[in-house]
Amino acid sequence: MATDPAVSSVVVLSGAGISAESGLQTFRGSDGLWEGHSVFEVATPEAWRADPGKVLRFYNMRRDQVRAAQPNAAHRALAELERRCRVDIVTQNIDDLHERAGSSRVLHLHGEVLYARSTVKPDWLYHLGERNIELGDHCDFGGQLRPHVVWFGEDVPELARAADLVRSADVLIVVGTSLAVYPAAGLIHQAPRAAQRYLVNPELPAVDGLAAFECIAETAGAGVPRLVERLLEA
Ligand code: NAD
Repeated sequence: MATDPAVSSVVVLSGAGISAESGLQTFRGSDGLWEGHSVFEVATPEAWRADPGKVLRFYNMRRDQVRAAQPNAAHRALAELERRCRVDIVTQNIDDLHERAGSSRVLHLHGEVLYARSTVKPDWLYHLGERNIELGDHCDFGGQLRPHVVWFGEDVPELARAADLVRSADVLIVVGTSLAVYPAAGLIHQAPRAAQRYLVNPELPAVDGLAAFECIAETAGAGVPRLVERLLEA
């Protein structure tokens, strides 16, 4: 692979499956629940209005799990690839495992659980460090803090930027996503016709538009390092 960043641009679309081997449950496990909860109970504006305490407890637990998790071989291989060419990661994940593995160009489509957001000034963010969010924790403008995540039914403010990145890809790697959550899933259709496309997932998603992909039916921890090795040898 060419190592000149102007020539070679890899874009990775990652989903919950890339963090599964780090011990973070995917959202659509076989039971269709996220850590035992329907997303409508914990990840929608309606859920927040109905029971903000429950939503905060859910994300406080997710945040504790993220802090305890470590990047796995897939996160590390993508960080290693960035030493050789331009790699942009567009992740649906709210964890920070790509960053902790060493990737520096990570766009979080669905927010970041380690940040809190003001409910009165939506672009006002607070890094939580070791803290969690409780009812009564307010922003500087007096509004309750909420998790900085995009809930089902909310706009995805970073979508246009993500689409621009995918349109610039020479190589597109889609890993660990069911391609069931829109609009994120639609990004695969934005890749240029000439882009090389790879999909890594032990259960290949049953969606249209994968004909142009080389599908690698392996876990991220096995499939991504092998793919990165191949790309670097090419
Ligand atoms: P999803 O749960 O809908 O799908 C997960 C996909 O990962 C499935 O296709 C599954 O076959 C695959 N998978 C499972 N184990 C894998 C492995 N070891 N290696 C590779 N792939 C594996 O996930 P999604 O498509 O990302 O959509 C879920 C939504 O839930 C996202 O919006 C995300 O914000 C949120 N979420 C995030 C996290 C996280 O940040 N780690 C975890 C759960 C859910």
